[in-house]
Amino acid sequence: MPELVQIRPEASDLADGEALPGIEISPDFREFVQARSVDEMVRLAQEVLADPTFPTVRAWRKAGGKAVGCFPVYTPQELVHSFGMLPVAMQGGGENLEISRADAALGSFLCSISKSTLEMALTGLLDPFDAFVFPYICDVSRNLDGIFTRVLPQSPSHMLHLPQNFTSQATIPFLVAEYRRLIEKLERVAGQPFSQEDLRASLEVFNEQRELVRRLATVKRETPWKVTLIEYYLLLRLGGLLPREIHIPLLRRALTEIEGRERKNKDAIRVLVVGPFCEQPTLELLQLVEDVGCYVVGEEFQMLHRWCPRIEPGADPLKSLAASYVRTPLDIGVRSTPTTKGAAILSRVDASKAQGVLFLTAKFCEPALEDVVLYRRALEGRGLPYLHMEFEEKSTTYEQARLQLETFVESILFE
Ligand code: SF4
Repeated sequence: MPELVQIRPEASDLADGEALPGIEISPDFREFVQARSVDEMVRLAQEVLADPTFPTVRAWRKAGGKAVGCFPVYTPQELVHSFGMLPVAMQGGGENLEISRADAALGSFLCSISKSTLEMALTGLLDPFDAFVFPYICDVSRNLDGIFTRVLPQSPSHMLHLPQNFTSQATIPFLVAEYRRLIEKLERVAGQPFSQEDLRASLEVFNEQRELVRRLATVKRETPWKVTLIEYYLLLRLGGLLPREIHIPLLRRALTEIEGRERKNKDAIRVLVVGPFCEQPTLELLQLVEDVGCYVVGEEFQMLHRWCPRIEPGADPLKSLAASYVRTPLDIGVRSTPTTKGAAILSRVDASKAQGVLFLTAKFCEPALEDVVLYRRALEGRGLPYLHMEFEEKSTTYEQARLQLETFVESILFE
């Protein structure tokens, strides 16, 4: 075990007023470089996620780097990376974060990720970040940008407008112009000008990461018994927190182990999980899904790595980046779809050979809930079973969830 990883001390060990230091990761990320087994990678990921002080960002900063917080889903991380800064997936505070201040600022009818993200801003947990990007995926994300501008005036915040009309000739130029607005801010934060060459190189780094993520998703879809849902999820989650140059070889080592595993196929049902594209369910809930007898063969976790296929940099890499968002063949959430929502869900069921759909939506997530209405209609038209469950970042009891899931699984097994 590398010596620089230390588990958070007990609160009782701290002097009055002393902040919890969180785990320490070495500035060269050697703990992750040296992690050889998937077990070791998963344990490191759990330690990082349990620590709301962003240990990977603090390690990056110790080495003199700058970091940009990227709210889900469609922040062009490649742009941030091309300035030599670390794009970091901001996916809420998780179950360990107590909400004490954000509740006073945001309504009780909003999703947990909005409150935990604001809580982190109000309590200094986001101080290691140099800037933030909020793609306009919903009214909540749009408003967070405005709130951040007031709460953290020293760290620029940017709301990224995204087109919804994918057939107009003006769509790609519009998105290029939006990316240019973001670039202006990133130039000021990084203290260096935008470079097409650097963006080309960054696109290739992310192409490599995307390809490995695609390989892992293929293993999960074709041979789901080879990798548990928790392993799969945590390996993807690390990809938004670590420097990509550290995550890529780590994922390659994990794939070698996972693809070579000899494990037996269990008597489980194949399930497509739809909904958790932004706020994240707890690890306990994911564990429960598998414990009751589901193989998750398709899902929307960590879409930041896979909302488009490989991007060819071409002569104008910024235009290529914009075109990848506009022309992605994937039917994904929080944007309009080239077909219909009904056709989109059915094609995903077919591609994953799922026997049923589990809608796992964040409580009060309007975009996800609106889609569920359309998806359900299409599934009912084909007689496909589904279950809808809502989650929050801080769930404490899973008894009702277990009962619902067990009933769902049995209804498919014994139909
Ligand atoms: S969970 Fe849903 S409502 Fe909340 S910020 Fe994300 S997309 Fe918007």
